[in-house]
Amino acid sequence: MKKTITIIGSGFSALVASCYLAKDGFDVTILEKNHTVGGRARQLSKDGFTFDIGPTWYWMPDVFEKFFADFGKKPSDYYHLDKLNPAYEVYFGKVDSIKIPDNLADILFIFEKEEKESAKHLNDFLDKAKHNYDVAIKDLVYRPGISITELITPATIKKANQFFSSIRTTVRKKIKNHRLQQIMEFPVLFLGAKPSNTPSFYSFMNYADFGLGTWHPKGGMYEVVKAMVTLAVELGVKIETNQNVEKINVENGEVKSIVSNGITIESDVVLSGADYHHTETLLEEKYRGYSENYWDSKIFAPSSLLFYVGFDKKIDNVSHHTLFFDTDFDVHAKAIYDNPKWPEKPLFYASFPSKTDSTVAPEGTEAGIFLIPIAPGIEDTFEIREKYFKSIIERFEQLTNQKVSENILFKESFCVNDFVNDYNSYKGNAYGLANILTQTAFLRPKIISKKVKNLFFTGQLTVPGPGVPPSIISGKIVSDLIKKQFTNI
Ligand SMILES: Cc1cc2nc3c(=O)[nH]c(=O)nc-3n(C[C@H](O)[C@H](O)[C@H](O)COP(=O)(O)OP(=O)(O)OC[C@H]3O[C@@H](n4cnc5c(N)ncnc54)[C@H](O)[C@@H]3O)c2cc1C
Repeated sequence: MKKTITIIGSGFSALVASCYLAKDGFDVTILEKNHTVGGRARQLSKDGFTFDIGPTWYWMPDVFEKFFADFGKKPSDYYHLDKLNPAYEVYFGKVDSIKIPDNLADILFIFEKEEKESAKHLNDFLDKAKHNYDVAIKDLVYRPGISITELITPATIKKANQFFSSIRTTVRKKIKNHRLQQIMEFPVLFLGAKPSNTPSFYSFMNYADFGLGTWHPKGGMYEVVKAMVTLAVELGVKIETNQNVEKINVENGEVKSIVSNGITIESDVVLSGADYHHTETLLEEKYRGYSENYWDSKIFAPSSLLFYVGFDKKIDNVSHHTLFFDTDFDVHAKAIYDNPKWPEKPLFYASFPSKTDSTVAPEGTEAGIFLIPIAPGIEDTFEIREKYFKSIIERFEQLTNQKVSENILFKESFCVNDFVNDYNSYKGNAYGLANILTQTAFLRPKIISKKVKNLFFTGQLTVPGPGVPPSIISGKIVSDLIKKQFTNI
């Protein structure tokens, strides 16, 4: 008889793991508390507009290709990808922006125009970044984070110094122009930490940015979720929504069953793709691997205040992805990491997917997503959300030189309280645990429970870390471990 695996949650890591495990011969069931799947990557549809609630940047297309190839498929079997040009646009002041093109030659040209000699520096930097990408994404990140020895390879020994200097120091050694510095420091923000706190080895994110480009699945990121669901179902995975897992029953250090909506379901193996801290609260205290103090001492990636806005007209002077770096990020970062509070003049990001994808908004209108990174756990009220919306829309109007506040058909928001209520997220974090040196690889929460032998974890809180590609990799890592441990199926 097939061994049964119950997976808690239906984020990317859970969906990916379900596919591998079903292919490996397990009887797999996903239980998701919400009424739709996809976790943080759910979709909002309203009045003909479609918004990705969470991720909007499709980076590292090779990771998606590798996943589908393991099942004899390609992303194009499920969704259509466009390479965005510009990849994105960065505002520094009123009608003052830089558009990042979709190819390196044009990016080098823009750099050189901003600062003499910077094209050469960027080229040298990207050579190393590409090498780091090959070492990290094609090898290191697929290791399970069980032991420090996983990180000790001939390639990493040669790069040891890059683990002890920050990406900021490395960038700023050669690039003196502040606008270019900000552009080069932006990709590591996806890892959830400050550039000054992120090892320069993570320059592979710059290669992902300038080398591999920014892509858009037609219809939005949710198309990737749909693709994975289609594949999982084809492979025999059962997916049940509106299933709130309330308890994990353990006897003698082994999971026997879980309780969902009051019903006990027996299972040979349990894999949680839900937030790690929350999952452990479903266990009796003696079976938890990490204490409340442990979680409290960790550096979490930011939470976010998000707005999903339907505009009744097309918006000018913006690109599909537009970053507003017109204020001092160091001051904003202090309010996220050092002294958690609402930032005074935050940087923000806006996405207008309907600029390149006519399927996500009615003709002549624009879908807009606005995101302000904030500290997890801070107070979240209707009044605070409104205050920040007003302030960023005013700045947006000024910077992009147009009026839009009278053209809003509707707006929805999402913030700390929603992250907690919808995903059981610790302190309402958006992207899990920051990838700083002391929270990398074997120093992250373990993918195998420390105290319960058939309980496993996956997702952005585990290895390799936050983001869609890392979550995909996490699902692969954990399924390999489960397969290894239960080979007599
Ligand atoms: C606003 C935002 C923007 C982002 N932007 C990007 C981006 O542009 N590009 C990128 O690559 N990444 C981005 N990310 C990060 C990326 O979305 C996440 O890293 C990734 O989706 C996390 O996947 P996961 O597998 O960890 O699971 P999650 O998405 O966290 O899913 C966990 C699931 O578990 C479910 N669950 C929780 N408790 C229970 C329970 N008791 N019973 C049953 N189910 C339960 C939850 O409902 C949820 O569906 C963004 C994230 C956010 C929030």
